[in-house]
Amino acid sequence: MPRLVIISNRLPITINRKDGELHYHPSAGGLATGLNSLDQSLERIWIGWPGQEVNDPEEQEVIRQDLLEEGLVPVFLTQQEISLYYEGFSNKTIWPHFHYFTQYTTYNDEYWEAYQQANRKFADATIPLIRPDDLVWVHDYQLMLLPAMIRQAFPKVSIGFFLHIPFPSYEVFRVLPWRKEILEGVLGADQIGFHTFNYMRHFLSASYRIAGFEHNFGKLTVGNRLINVDVFPMGIDYDKYAFPEINLNGDDSSFSIKQLAKGKKLIISIDRLDYTKGIPNRLLTFEKFLKKYPEYHRKVSLMMLVVPSRANVDQYQELKEQVDKLVGNINGQFGTFDWTPVQYFYRSLNFSELITLYQEGDIALITPLRDGMNLVAKEYVASKEKSKDGVLILSEMAGASNELMDALIVNPQDANGIVDAIHQALVMTEHERRWRLTNMQEKLKKYNVRHWAATFFKEQKKLMEKQQDQQ
Ligand code: UDP
Repeated sequence: MPRLVIISNRLPITINRKDGELHYHPSAGGLATGLNSLDQSLERIWIGWPGQEVNDPEEQEVIRQDLLEEGLVPVFLTQQEISLYYEGFSNKTIWPHFHYFTQYTTYNDEYWEAYQQANRKFADATIPLIRPDDLVWVHDYQLMLLPAMIRQAFPKVSIGFFLHIPFPSYEVFRVLPWRKEILEGVLGADQIGFHTFNYMRHFLSASYRIAGFEHNFGKLTVGNRLINVDVFPMGIDYDKYAFPEINLNGDDSSFSIKQLAKGKKLIISIDRLDYTKGIPNRLLTFEKFLKKYPEYHRKVSLMMLVVPSRANVDQYQELKEQVDKLVGNINGQFGTFDWTPVQYFYRSLNFSELITLYQEGDIALITPLRDGMNLVAKEYVASKEKSKDGVLILSEMAGASNELMDALIVNPQDANGIVDAIHQALVMTEHERRWRLTNMQEKLKKYNVRHWAATFFKEQKKLMEKQQDQQ
């Protein structure tokens, strides 16, 4: 029986230091949920950074032993690595570039050096643990050089790579000075997965033009290896959002959210603070809507949740100021004594608050300028399982729009189009709201995160067996 060896930048747990003591918190991302649903007899090891700087070797050893029981192996990053590899090359070079924000791409040799070294560090932690018949999974943009590093040590082991963000078109990708190295790093894998057909197409085009590998229906031959490049759109844990176990009598704000929504149409907007999410555009569009449709004043509010993120990166601080200003402008211009047009929260919510917001939102306005997938859109639709009531307005630039075709799909730069979509959502009949949601829910139920993990696994295993037969 093969084992599954997963490597991602972050482990599914985070360590926090409080009053000198270390605390472990599960970070319940989609990946962890998907993996938990795989065949339980499958042995698993997960290698990654536990999200906290720990320099004392004795303390590192304690953590190592604690995590070992869960099949987790920590890679400890120094402050320098965090700042140059993680905040630097990952978040100031690859992140903006792959999201088409090339004006924000930082070209810095020191970052690139640190990225290579950090990938090497993950490789050094992984290689001694690998057995030749394991299935290895490498995740995301922080570790694009890792597949080739593992390949060097194990010419035959089966390696999968999944990119959770967009892969840009060749014309954008080619601008990166390190394009060839990054591509060759990923091409160390046997199976390479993307959220959408377009990301896959861009990757194949870049592989041909930059590295000279031609593909045949998504199959590439690199040396004597056959590589499968394919689309695996990531789903959500549907039941978690459709049938949430929440306690409204707890001491959170779920109850107040319900009160706030009474007697009004609530448009919700939920994202991390990130320039890719199009938050300022969304606010300007809402302002346009209020100007065009004064009859909706005091009847519609925008509940905007912005989750703090990457506060050490300059662009994120500037964005925060811009959002604060725009919210102030709109509320100052249109607000009345009994109505605040934009209810703005800069924090993260707990699960029961988040689900209440989803359930109470008459319209979800999700208009990223670029987004690999956008899970919030899927979670909103799932949360309407019981009520079958709500309208999703979704940017065509989000990966999720390829599956959620019954949303009102908009171009995030087309403010007039979005204003029309908001109006259309407000006047939409109950019948139409219901059928749109039902169609989307059917899809999300079937293609949930378990399906995603199981399909990626099944395809990789099939490929591995085929390759073994050929040897
Ligand atoms: N989320 C959360 N707390 C919040 C708001 C959002 O945990 O207060 C979660 C949300 O449920 C979703 C994730 O954050 O699963 C955001 O994922 P998405 O793909 O939409 O965007 P990303 O932040 O990964 O770019």
